[in-house]
Amino acid sequence: MNKTFEELTNELKNNGIRLSHQRLKILEYINNHRTHPTVDEIYTDLLDEIPTLSKTTIYNTLNTLIETDLVKLLTIEENETHYDINFENHGHFKCESCKKIFDFDIDIDSLEIKGLDDFKIKHKDIYFKGVCPECSKK
Ligand SMILES: [Zn+2]
Ligand SMILES: [Zn+2]
Repeated sequence: MNKTFEELTNELKNNGIRLSHQRLKILEYINNHRTHPTVDEIYTDLLDEIPTLSKTTIYNTLNTLIETDLVKLLTIEENETHYDINFENHGHFKCESCKKIFDFDIDIDSLEIKGLDDFKIKHKDIYFKGVCPECSKK
């Protein structure tokens, strides 16, 4: 299940993580923007509100959230790192036109997989690529 903002902040407190104003704002941002933002996107969007914000602070905050298992890294293209706060079983669709990444519901654990019987699976991802409805209209 996905956590509420309050549950997220409680979990950080329980892990002894200091909740500075900037950290809370970053957490709030990724909780409200479910399109898997990159550090650059978070930076650009929050800069008006927090002029003292630096990309290093965002990186460090996100790394802390990853260590606390509140955020996941999402690497679809080698050169882009997105952040995902959705912990429900889901797949990703990347629009090749607007570059947005959309979640879709899929039960990854129920997929029938052949040939991996002796493999230890550590991570499962499903990626689709194409064009989103908004871009298809253009
Ligand atoms: Zn699109
Ligand atoms: Zn996602």
